[in-house]
Amino acid sequence: MEEKLNKRHLHSVGDFLFLLPHKYQDRTVVTPVSDLVYGEFAQVLVTVQSSKVQYGRQRSLVIECADNSGLLTIRLFHFSKAQMNLFKSGTRVLAYGQTVEGQGRWAMMHPETKILKAHEKVILSDKLTPVYPSTLGVGSAKISKWAGIALDCLASESLQDFSDDFLQQHQLAPLKVALKAIHQPEVGQRESEILNPENPCLKRVVIDELLAKQIGMLRKKAQAKLTHAFALRIDDTLQSRLLKQLPFTLTTAQQRVIGEIFTDLTRPQPMHRLVQGDVGSGKTLVAFSAVLQAVANGLQAVIMAPTEILSEQHYHQAEKLLKSLDIHCVWLSGKTTVKKRRELLVQIADGTAQVIIGTHALFQEEVIYQRLGLAVIDEQHRFGVHQRLLLKEKAENTGKTPHLLVMTATPIPRTLAMSYYADLDTSVIDELPPNRKPIETVLLADSRRDELIKRIKALVATGQQVYWVCPLIEESDMLQAQAAEDVYHHLVESLPELNIALLHGRQKSDEKAQIIADFQANKTQLLVSTTVIEVGVDVPNATLMVIENAERFGLAQLHQLRGRVGRGSEKSYCVLLFQQPLSQTARQRLQVIRDSQDGFEIAKEDLRIRGAGEILGTKQTGEMSLRIADLERDSELVEMSFSLAQQLMEENTAMADELIARWVGNAQDYLDV
Ligand code: ADP
Ligand code: MG
Repeated sequence: MEEKLNKRHLHSVGDFLFLLPHKYQDRTVVTPVSDLVYGEFAQVLVTVQSSKVQYGRQRSLVIECADNSGLLTIRLFHFSKAQMNLFKSGTRVLAYGQTVEGQGRWAMMHPETKILKAHEKVILSDKLTPVYPSTLGVGSAKISKWAGIALDCLASESLQDFSDDFLQQHQLAPLKVALKAIHQPEVGQRESEILNPENPCLKRVVIDELLAKQIGMLRKKAQAKLTHAFALRIDDTLQSRLLKQLPFTLTTAQQRVIGEIFTDLTRPQPMHRLVQGDVGSGKTLVAFSAVLQAVANGLQAVIMAPTEILSEQHYHQAEKLLKSLDIHCVWLSGKTTVKKRRELLVQIADGTAQVIIGTHALFQEEVIYQRLGLAVIDEQHRFGVHQRLLLKEKAENTGKTPHLLVMTATPIPRTLAMSYYADLDTSVIDELPPNRKPIETVLLADSRRDELIKRIKALVATGQQVYWVCPLIEESDMLQAQAAEDVYHHLVESLPELNIALLHGRQKSDEKAQIIADFQANKTQLLVSTTVIEVGVDVPNATLMVIENAERFGLAQLHQLRGRVGRGSEKSYCVLLFQQPLSQTARQRLQVIRDSQDGFEIAKEDLRIRGAGEILGTKQTGEMSLRIADLERDSELVEMSFSLAQQLMEENTAMADELIARWVGNAQDYLDV
């Protein structure tokens, strides 16, 4: 038990104060069977009529019961022989569980049951029963008991709290009062009252957690500033030579962000900057500007992308823009031949290779850098913490920490950024290059596919091109490729006069490159693809994007995909095909994407609907995720904790330490994103 608890940073009885119930059971009343409501939890007092073991897919004990208002079936899945004999006809049972429907009457699946003795009186509790998270592998009742012991000692504990004035001003309960109220609700209190975000008790504990997290981040940021980096001298001549090659000028936003990056680079502490910019806002040039400065100062720079295709595009762009400045760029792909790879590794180790572009392959063990000074990570939400650390190790031989530039097209809502990226400085490219036309987005039922195909024919006749994105199948690469093939064959059949190509993740990388090159050259007019084209592909002549089973995608992902069109001078369209029937929520989500082109707006909606973990990318949040605070629900408190953290660190170090010990402990990874 001790081991289990320690793993969750529970070391003393006092730690249980901050392991809070996430819901409550109401066992203060007995509900007549006739008053049960489908899907809701309730307590019933029933008498057994009969019971038998049923053998199906899973063995179960079926107990038919009744009270004087109606019939109820109780089904137990795990039971011993002894238990079987307890449910004799005439026995009274107090059961708590969720009401479902079972063969024409109400049923409860594996409710908690208590068998009453012949003349035993039913004693109902007068308060709600707290339910603690089961993730510990320790029963809820046990935790409740321990929390109770801790609460009994609370009066004599020296928990630091805010001043009374402050608490009053912000409508917060004192911490001790708040903890007691949440662990042990008052008589007559409802769950909806306790878990109400306006409840001063809940608010007080939420702010406690948010503050701890914020302080942890700020301390980490301060720590990072203690390490050393190469302070660069900015070479303006080289920068203007880069820009002279472009057929356009930088947007004001690009210029501003580049300025911010250059200021960072001139400092002897490592840059730690996150650049957010909507799809098509021109992040690549911003990255190249930073890369150029590293190289001008005799350092190597790496550019890391999440996919082979994207890294290849970066490489081609780099070749185009940096080679003419006599900078040697190399591309380290997972598919580079053994011989070529050996050559490249030598070049990376001896410093001949100045800019190194690739995917995860960049931090494999055998890749040794001569003088790594800058790392650019594109689309960072797909990279794990672990990989970021690995990259740092790659510069150990220089005795310095590399500058780090992280770029993302997934706009991160403010509350999320403040909580998860507070240790990074943030720049926003809040302006798209001029002449971008808004994209018209349409929702279309899958049954109208034929009309759509006709429209494509007409569109291609005018010289424009089309993307057709296939359903997202998260479980399997292979199934996804297969689905794309099916769509491809159907389109080839329906549109014999078009050149149609198919692109998916299981093709060889040179094959993929060829397919994209052909599409870029307008040799193919319709590109059927899986989500591999999500990031980076740039074909201004493509003006229509069709997305199949749009209801299966995340909103941010749809926004990214849609960003592939609307890059040229012609008006662009995005058709979201959906499968009927569409649930109410699914329809609402698609309407958000139809009605907005503002990535931030969309991401905010995504956050509301799907939660932070999804936005940050897969499982990164696990250990670090907030325990009780909710970024969306508690967004005001997030803002408050942001300004308060700084103040507390300066004015009350002891309380700041206490907060960290309480919520973060030695679990530093809680802070690493
Ligand atoms: P993203 O931010 O999505 O990575 P890119 O860097 O790929 O965007 O840029 C998208 C397109 O916009 C590219 O074709 C690029 O050449 C072009 N572009 C970038 N900056 C500007 C600008 N200031 N004016 C016009 N076009 C630009
Ligand atoms: Mg990009």
